[in-house]
Amino acid sequence: MNYASTRNSSLKATSAHAIVKGLSDEGGLFVPESIPALTKEEIISFGDKKYSERAFDVFSKFLTDFTAEELKYCVESAYNTKNFDSENIAEITKLNGNRYVLELWHGPTCAFKDMALQILPYLLTTSAKKEVSGKQIAILVATSGDTGKAALEGFKDVDGTSICVFYPEDGVSPMQKRQMTTQEGKNVNVCAVKGNFDDCQNGVKAIFTNRDTEQKLLENNILLSSANSINWGRLAPQIVYYVSAYAQLVKDGEISFGEKVNIVVPTGNFGNILAAYYAKLMGIPVNKLICASNSNNVLTDFINTGVYDRNRKFYTTVSPSMDILISSNLERLLYHFTGENDKLINEWFSSLKETGRYEVNEEVKKKLSEVFFAGFCTDDETKAQIKKTFEEENYLLDTHTAVAVKVYEDYKAKTGDNTKTVIASTANPYKFGRAVFESVGGNAEGDEFDVIAKLEEKTGTKIPAPLAATRDKAVRFTGSVEKQDMTKAVLDFLKS
Ligand SMILES: *Cc1c(COP(=O)(O)O)cnc(C)c1O
Repeated sequence: MNYASTRNSSLKATSAHAIVKGLSDEGGLFVPESIPALTKEEIISFGDKKYSERAFDVFSKFLTDFTAEELKYCVESAYNTKNFDSENIAEITKLNGNRYVLELWHGPTCAFKDMALQILPYLLTTSAKKEVSGKQIAILVATSGDTGKAALEGFKDVDGTSICVFYPEDGVSPMQKRQMTTQEGKNVNVCAVKGNFDDCQNGVKAIFTNRDTEQKLLENNILLSSANSINWGRLAPQIVYYVSAYAQLVKDGEISFGEKVNIVVPTGNFGNILAAYYAKLMGIPVNKLICASNSNNVLTDFINTGVYDRNRKFYTTVSPSMDILISSNLERLLYHFTGENDKLINEWFSSLKETGRYEVNEEVKKKLSEVFFAGFCTDDETKAQIKKTFEEENYLLDTHTAVAVKVYEDYKAKTGDNTKTVIASTANPYKFGRAVFESVGGNAEGDEFDVIAKLEEKTGTKIPAPLAATRDKAVRFTGSVEKQDMTKAVLDFLKS
């Protein structure tokens, strides 16, 4: 299996190359040259396998340059009960009315990013051995909250790697800050930046593209790499849980093999829902992929009109991990929808860069409406959904998953479609405890730990152990740097 680039379809790279590089040289994203199929027998056989074995089977179709031994090492190191609080890794909870919640937050940081970032360090170090043997890998991350912590937990104490995370000093939630500043591990560094998320992101990009810095690090045998969501090594692991969930529902007798399901995904960068599309291409019977957005509804408009336009107001919402106006992974979908037309992709994405806007052709518009349904909801609707689902079904949603549930309710009211539906749940409610507590009628005064203690009392749910533990952990990373001093922070850290 080779990988092309969305901006150069004649490129042929191995998966190891794609994972080490992250982004292709001409700025495109790596895409598999074809999508491998799963047979009925394979999908049914998943029912009797552990999650790590299911992951092994899916990876062995995409990462054909990895040996069976290497893949086994990767999946077993990541998907075990040391890292996840559930034997099943991803749990399925049945709600009323043909709805199944796929809980992707049983990992160490209580958000779905763990599903990919627990295995990425192993995929990356294994790839690096093939591509750039003997080099140390230093991961740089700019984060608005969830990715940074998940990457830190994934890479902590992984031999041959180190990781440096930058976050906006005043731009993350108190719980997210606490989670990062108390991070353990010998090879980690966490750095607050006096600036916003864009400043962090620009600073990290500047470090990546500075040849002097690259040279200095190479002299110390260090290669920079990225753990952000456009890396193929983050996308491939996300395909696994959709395949796994379908097989599990068949095994549990909830659906019969071949029966179609809808999949609803609370979407930001379009990685998670793209993985669901790949699962569909592999042979998982999917009716509609439902793309749920918050007030930053650039994707809702795009799917409904074919016009992508980021020139709009940016809203800070109660579902911050979806506050995004440029959904990078959409580029991969459009590459497939245009029949791998790198010329069109180059055209559209230069237009996005220059004018903030592009419009796709009729063929792509038709495909978008066949495959997807898109909707969005406001913060008030998100909070009302949390309250409703809790009162009627005794199930506590986080602020991101609630967006998905609300958009699904709207879809059902509009279409009358009764197809069984899988809703991707991307965070544990305690990660966004303040907004969740207010939604169920609580008075969210006091510090973060007071609020989640009250949420626990009021709802009879349980604070996840990793979040509770941050209360008593020592803060290791204090202080902050000016945005122009980020390079120095990286060099100082990597020297030590
Ligand atoms: C990252 C994130 C999302 C958005 O996922 P994408 O793959 O970027 O679309 C949704 N919810 C939560 C809790 C997240 O952390």
